[in-house]
Amino acid sequence: MIVSYDRQVAVVTGGSSGIGLATVKMLLGAGASVALCARNEGRLNDVAAVLANEHGEDRVLARALSVLDREAVTAFAEEVAHRFGTCDLLVNNAGQGRQSTFADTTDEDWRAEYELKLFSQIYPTRAFLPMLKASKGAIVAVNSLLAYQPEPHMVCTSSARAGVQNLLKSLSVELAPDVRVNSVLLGLVGSGQWTRRFAAREDQSVSREDWYADLARRKGIPLGRLGDPAEAAAAIAFLGSRAAGYITGAQLEVSGGLSRHI
Ligand code: NDP
Repeated sequence: MIVSYDRQVAVVTGGSSGIGLATVKMLLGAGASVALCARNEGRLNDVAAVLANEHGEDRVLARALSVLDREAVTAFAEEVAHRFGTCDLLVNNAGQGRQSTFADTTDEDWRAEYELKLFSQIYPTRAFLPMLKASKGAIVAVNSLLAYQPEPHMVCTSSARAGVQNLLKSLSVELAPDVRVNSVLLGLVGSGQWTRRFAAREDQSVSREDWYADLARRKGIPLGRLGDPAEAAAAIAFLGSRAAGYITGAQLEVSGGLSRHI
């Protein structure tokens, strides 16, 4: 690991799967104590038991909650304060994308997508801000290249993600110089979302390897493959670390070269 989180405390929302879980593992490996949350309690507890076994129970705190439940997020922050006394890094990662065109996106879909994308940043940021200010900590938001490069088949996700980038830029100014705010812009990373889409593929005889390779080809990813969750986690860990101490209001693309803008 290129950065150290020795004696630091990190919070990762959506830490039970995919990129969030890879980030939790990387931060624990770099010396941090980590608090993670997700909605599905069974999966979260299974993951937390393995992590506690590998890194020590005193360094892992897991709570089942939705980041859209303001009271639960506030209680989570209070618990982190009680248990660890501080928070140096907040990774706002929880969420998922929605595939739909304008024609098949209902008003309820639009509202749900905007609520998920914006309030998954707003509630945790507000709840952990006092601790982040006190520790001169950092926020890293997990966002998508869709914020800059919208796709018509992901119309509401793309539009909401652009709003998130705008919010983060304002936050990076308002919270400076105490708290740094940065984001990663993901292309296609082979985690839970893509595993689910693979499982629902039309031709069930196609292997995972062939399906992913074909996907990368069709999407025109210059590096010719999907990203690994650990590769996204490495970018998150860097931006959240003291090694990135002079970086705020920035976005780091983790897309295998998929972005077309300069
Ligand atoms: P996964 O489905 O593997 O992981 C998502 C995690 O978020 C799970 O732990 C899930 O647990 C949790 N989660 C989802 N909704 C909530 C909620 N409301 N409250 C608390 N936890 C929640 O997906 P990825 O690792 O791929 O995605 C991580 C982030 O990266 C997401 O925000 C996604 O939109 C974004 N992203 C991913 C891309 C990719 O290609 N993989 C591309 C662009 C962006 P549970 O369901 O139990 O709540």
